[in-house]
Amino acid sequence: MTEMDELYQELVMAHGSSPSNFHEIENADRTAEGFNPFCGDQLTLYLRIENDVITDAAFVGKGCAISKASASLMTEAVKGKTMDEAQAKFTAFHKMTTRGMEEYEADGLGDLEVLAGVTQFPTRIKCAILSWRTLESALKAEGEKVSTE
Ligand code: ZN
Repeated sequence: MTEMDELYQELVMAHGSSPSNFHEIENADRTAEGFNPFCGDQLTLYLRIENDVITDAAFVGKGCAISKASASLMTEAVKGKTMDEAQAKFTAFHKMTTRGMEEYEADGLGDLEVLAGVTQFPTRIKCAILSWRTLESALKAEGEKVSTE
């Protein structure tokens, strides 16, 4: 295993078993639901937004370690960011997971870059992207259930 693979395993295990921001937010400004039928992952995302800034982000749900780790890292990554910045992170993460690290230009994703390890397991990419698609839906206030299908 490469160093990156080891980091990936550690990150998924740590965040998958005890995710950050794993709770509901009462009176959230935005909520969105996501479902990944390929794996059975489901989550509800809560955002609190003040003056275009995401002041709080949290989620509840059930699913595999990758989906939980991704949601955990995603909520950490968007807290304190503007909605535009959060959208830009989604775009960067999506690019990274669909094209892999070779074409990926570092864009301040931090720990999220380790999740690029998921590209070795194409069937799990949907698990990693689910929380981000749900974030996008919440930002756009689409109000529809997101599916990775
Ligand atoms: Zn999954």
